[in-house]
Amino acid sequence: MTAIFNRLSTLSTFLIRSPTQSRIILLVTAFIMLTANWSLFERILEIYPFKLAGLPFLLSLAVFFSALTAIFFLCICHGRATRWMLALFLIVASQAAYYMDQFGVIVDIVMIDNIMQTNPQEFAGLLSINLAIRTLLFGIIPAWLIIQYCPKPSNIRQELKSKLRWIGLMLILLALAITPFTAGYASFMREHKITRYYANPTYTTYSAIKYLMQQINVAKALPLKHLAQDAKMIGPSSRPELMIMVVGETARADRFSLNGYHKETNPLLAKQSVVSLTNVQSCGTSTGVSVPCMFSSLGRKGYDKEKALNQENALDVLFDHGVQILWRDNNSDSKGVATRMKYEDFKSPTLNPSCEGECRDIGMLSGLDKYIEARRGKDILIVLHQMGNHGPEYYRRYPKQFEKFKPMCMTGELQNCTQQEIDNSYDNAILYTDYFLSNVIDFLKKYDNDRATAMLYVADHGESLGEKGFYLHAAPYLIAPKEQTHVPAIVWMGKHFDYSQQQLLPYKDLALSHDDLFCTLLVAFEIDAKMCAAKEEVLMQNLDFKSVLMKQGAIKKTVAN
Ligand SMILES: [Zn+2]
Repeated sequence: MTAIFNRLSTLSTFLIRSPTQSRIILLVTAFIMLTANWSLFERILEIYPFKLAGLPFLLSLAVFFSALTAIFFLCICHGRATRWMLALFLIVASQAAYYMDQFGVIVDIVMIDNIMQTNPQEFAGLLSINLAIRTLLFGIIPAWLIIQYCPKPSNIRQELKSKLRWIGLMLILLALAITPFTAGYASFMREHKITRYYANPTYTTYSAIKYLMQQINVAKALPLKHLAQDAKMIGPSSRPELMIMVVGETARADRFSLNGYHKETNPLLAKQSVVSLTNVQSCGTSTGVSVPCMFSSLGRKGYDKEKALNQENALDVLFDHGVQILWRDNNSDSKGVATRMKYEDFKSPTLNPSCEGECRDIGMLSGLDKYIEARRGKDILIVLHQMGNHGPEYYRRYPKQFEKFKPMCMTGELQNCTQQEIDNSYDNAILYTDYFLSNVIDFLKKYDNDRATAMLYVADHGESLGEKGFYLHAAPYLIAPKEQTHVPAIVWMGKHFDYSQQQLLPYKDLALSHDDLFCTLLVAFEIDAKMCAAKEEVLMQNLDFKSVLMKQGAIKKTVAN
């Protein structure tokens, strides 16, 4: 302790002697890099274990993160606000560092949301002696020193000049640090994205800004248009429903062996009693269009982003009728679909236990039992938004044991791979989805006695893999090749669900699309709404639903069966 105080007083003597704001900013940067970034350097050392030969690259990474942090502070600290900004960031960084070091969490947007929703009891549970000591030593005392000794701005122009000079110097330093290791940085940035999330306080600040923007956007949204106000839940059903809907990513229907693909990409689903709907068209050719569109009632032709955001979607209607909804995301986000629902981010190790460079879809099943058990007797819909076959780096979408088809394309630069290599890595990722979906089904089977269980999987859009020279997706719908719009859709139903495999099988080749999802979800939860009447023919295969409606005289025509 005495040693630390001695050091601090030497430091402050130096500061008093040559007190320019820029120098103080650099000192605070050095202090934060040394005291609040242990997790960051720990992760880096996990990826690149300490070896003499690797030392230059490790040093370069240290310079890289330090220079970026210095630039960040030089940009945001000005005039009289400098001392307060630095003091604030010293305290924030010490807090964030404590939780990162102690619990391995990342202070991302979800974490900030959690913090904002923490109640006093939960907050008390998080306090500890270690936290207090660390906050005092690395947060409050240095912050107090800065407030005491940080010089007032001398001359605005001079101050600006000095900061710009330092920013320039930092940029040169960055260039010098990166240039000898460009290949190393390319792989570090691509393969170890998560590591950057530990950069403190830059990533913390980025998350806080993102959170703030999100709150502002929610606040200024137009009043929500309510839908299906005539809807009512018919029933009652004997058992509460438990449905897991998997929203797939970049999966092509023709690459599923269930649909006749010559390579065995569905070895596990083939053993489950599933129905593969072979003729389903997507709403869009990108995640940003397809995901909000499939949950909206607008349909492909009527779809408009703003319109969809400002009116209720299928989840809202279900929620209004007492269905418990949980959205877990391992993709990007829910694209506005789950804005009003319980939402959990599985793209970082905070919640996802299966992260190895990138977080795996299978991690989304973790802890689901608790969620279900806490909602005994209630209908539940869980949406799992997959990373799936997101390209172009298909080879990164699956763990090693799924490298069944070889040789694979091991780069995102598809032009450097042969057709066979591209196909193989893409198909291995489908194989991983097969494993994931089969696990979802096995998970549901545990609840099969007490609940009406079902899984519905549908992908958001497909992918071009070199057909006619096209790659990836997002082609305008009118000219989009079928590889981008023909998506896989798979249904599994437990023994108490309202539909059975036998009932559904005759309809497996029926022309369906994302437009049908809205009413499919409503009917699956036995919600009767006028707006879904037009879809009776397909959806009335729900026999419970049909018989109740018939008794009520609501169905006039006989539904083809
Ligand atoms: Zn997508």
